[in-house]
Amino acid sequence: MKFEIVTIFPDFFRGPLDYGIVRKAREAGLIEILVHDLREFTTDRHRTVDDRPFGGGEGMVLKPEPLFKCVESLGVPSREARLNGTARESVVLLSPQGAMFNQQLAHELAGLERIVMICGRYEGIDERVSEALADREVSIGDYVLSGGELGAAVIVDTVTRLVPGALGNEASAQQESFTAAQKTAAEGPDSTCSSEGLLDYPHYTRPAEFRGMAVPEILMGGNHDQIRKWRRRKSLEKTLRNRPDLLCREALSEADRKLLVELEVEFEKKGIR
Ligand code: SAH
Repeated sequence: MKFEIVTIFPDFFRGPLDYGIVRKAREAGLIEILVHDLREFTTDRHRTVDDRPFGGGEGMVLKPEPLFKCVESLGVPSREARLNGTARESVVLLSPQGAMFNQQLAHELAGLERIVMICGRYEGIDERVSEALADREVSIGDYVLSGGELGAAVIVDTVTRLVPGALGNEASAQQESFTAAQKTAAEGPDSTCSSEGLLDYPHYTRPAEFRGMAVPEILMGGNHDQIRKWRRRKSLEKTLRNRPDLLCREALSEADRKLLVELEVEFEKKGIR
């Protein structure tokens, strides 16, 4: 997987992509990250990348010419081929007006060979970049950042975890929050069925007791079936509490639906929500 980032602040990426799984994936050659300085694609003495908005208003807007020149220099396939899926590449424009980035989109992007990301700054980017250069606009959340760089770093990190071999243990990507994946066949707590779009269950490690807080008894017992059930219940509980919007009742098993009703009664009694 190749990530290419177009930015006016190339040094921004020195830190965030040099740690942990992303660093290891780079070192193992599973991913490659290239950062392009937009100013190198300007032609004037001042290396101008922005200009005032037509129609008036606040701030500055990133000009189209350097962005087109930069992305075209990367030899990406035509926009049409990218849009109809014959090319396994995408040119992504980071924008708060974009489609929401989530685990599902991360999976989709992880199936590509190359992702070019354009980071905006100032008031944004000349709209012709979205209309004719990028094939999608992506937002990392309903808030306004001062630039697309953090968004690009978020996408690199999230997609890298899904590149085969990047996580030591492939099963962990399937068990994580939001992941609606196939169930693993094996039994036992090490292969708890996937979270199926729910939030992850709580994790505990040593010490068994910390400042008077004990690890739930059931996790210490070694009864794999009970542990699996407990984790499922906790997953449902956390999703119901924090992200009820993720609960798709129809997709849940009979047993899960029963658990949910129990949890709702419990919440009601405790006055939660
Ligand atoms: N005027 C714009 C915001 C511009 S913020 C608006 O109101 O929609 C400057 C740049 O930061 C954007 O061009 C984009 O690249 C980046 N950015 C800001 N918020 C973002 C978000 N939630 N997701 C992705 N990129 C974002």
